[in-house]
Amino acid sequence: MWGRSVLVCVAVAGGLLSLWGCSQAPLFIAKEEPWRADEERQCLASGYVRPNHFLVQRASLGGPEPCGALKPFEMAAAADGYVQLRPAAMLRCPMIPAVERWVRETVRPAARHYLGRDLVELKVVASYSCRPMNHVNGGRLSEHGHANAVDIATFLFSDGEAVTVKGGWRGDPREQAFLRAVHDGACREFTTVLGPEADSYHHDHFHLDLARHGRDGMGRICK
Ligand SMILES: [Zn+2]
Repeated sequence: MWGRSVLVCVAVAGGLLSLWGCSQAPLFIAKEEPWRADEERQCLASGYVRPNHFLVQRASLGGPEPCGALKPFEMAAAADGYVQLRPAAMLRCPMIPAVERWVRETVRPAARHYLGRDLVELKVVASYSCRPMNHVNGGRLSEHGHANAVDIATFLFSDGEAVTVKGGWRGDPREQAFLRAVHDGACREFTTVLGPEADSYHHDHFHLDLARHGRDGMGRICK
């Protein structure tokens, strides 16, 4: 059904590009990428990711194609339920262990080390969303469209305090150190990590995804 490159949801009205009739999906360009379904099937078959109280398996995310995932999960918490994801993130299978490891091995220890606080919640500002990158119409389909990305804006602690990417990145020195440790640790788990240094779109959140970069698919973006 899809050619190598497909322009989705274009309507031309009166010589102007229009998005009328495009109720759900804005305009984006998507490629045929068979590795995505293969990778998700392998992850599901591995048994490494098992549903539990905090991880609910959902039915296939419908399109509009080529968005979606075969059997995504709604992840409401990491670290045995100790760290909430709010609202719950809709993610494809390979993202689950990456988020889990990042929270356990980077974010919680960094909160204790740099802030002396206990991490209890991550504020999720985006997960699955069938849209172009950076919401720019005509751009490539975002990894969010494949449920292969999550955006985190705020870290909350057991004492009710919070650190935001927006306020902390250039804010209090301890918050700066915490956020840089969290960002750098994310680069060990995810293939794309974008924060305030990347561009103005990411001034207030970290974007984490498992895209494949480069000819061999092994490239990484960490900025
Ligand atoms: Zn994002």
